[in-house]
Amino acid sequence: MDSKASEKIHCLIIGSGPAGYTAAIYASRANLKPVLYQGIQPGGQLTITTEVENYPGYPDGVQGPDMMVHFEKQAARMGADIRFGLATKVDFSQQPYKVWIDDEKLLEADAVIIATGASAKWLGLESEQRLNGFGVSACAVCDGFFFKGKDVAIVGAGDTAAEEALYLSKICTTVYMIVRRDEMRASKVMQERVQRTPNIKVYWNSETEEIIGEKKTEAVRIKNIKTGDTQTIPISGFFVAIGHEPNSGIFKGWLTMDEAGYIKTQPGSSKTNIEGIFAAGDVQDKIYRQAVTAAGSGCMAALDAERYLGEKGLH
Ligand code: NDP
Repeated sequence: MDSKASEKIHCLIIGSGPAGYTAAIYASRANLKPVLYQGIQPGGQLTITTEVENYPGYPDGVQGPDMMVHFEKQAARMGADIRFGLATKVDFSQQPYKVWIDDEKLLEADAVIIATGASAKWLGLESEQRLNGFGVSACAVCDGFFFKGKDVAIVGAGDTAAEEALYLSKICTTVYMIVRRDEMRASKVMQERVQRTPNIKVYWNSETEEIIGEKKTEAVRIKNIKTGDTQTIPISGFFVAIGHEPNSGIFKGWLTMDEAGYIKTQPGSSKTNIEGIFAAGDVQDKIYRQAVTAAGSGCMAALDAERYLGEKGLH
């Protein structure tokens, strides 16, 4: 088939995390014949995490990547058309709604469910960008292995940073945790685990000034915000775990968002400001951000889409 040709579909789902796949399961069972585009990270953020202990139905826990394979298989078994490709542009000015995949293929859909999730934030240092892939990473689970028996640093103080520091502590010799305040945002249980781990050393009230190294990461220079003292710590790996931002860029100008770019949905629903366009998962949720809440909102989006298509006589 000509990849440039447009294709008319009933229900398009953009994104392949828990929200996207759950929407696909429900939409398939409602006979909406959904087409799901996976984006650049099939399975979403859970594919870069380790053990998930808080998703109901897995009494012994489950590895994040395995769980997402289960989600995908279930959606495929229900009949969802799952494809690899990234939505790069949209035109929501009229029905059917237009979405371009990989800048070339045009899809026209009666209903669109946006489940594009969120992505890791970076500090914004020149050295961080230059050494990205040369010791600098935003995913301890993906890259920790490369620093076996070495010293590494991790910046951040939320649950992600705590979880990743613990993960790294099992592989690396010493993990230096750089925390910008005198307390952590992470849950109590995670903080306690960090503090009980002898090879994690926390630097409080500290910010990263520079990652040092020409072709690979060799050290990090940190500054104590209270005293102004700086110090250089030799490391081989530098991990960034300072939160996420919603993947909503291509919808700017069409959909109502908050100041951070999270898509606004009407309370108690997945409806956006445009009828027939629905949002689910982390792209519209900065509060809960859990796999189970994302899955729940994906279910809501599919039910909202089904109702909308029925009311419009499109289904
Ligand atoms: P958070 O937004 O919770 O935390 C981000 C952390 O990074 C904060 O400690 C923040 O510091 C710090 N930070 C932000 N910007 C900078 C910067 N420029 N320099 C230095 N530090 C910075 O993000 P997380 O990804 O950790 O967690 C997101 C959500 O996911 C949370 O709700 C969390 O509970 C949840 N989660 C749950 C898990 C689980 O249940 N197993 C695992 C992982 C995440 P400050 O505190 O000073 O603002």
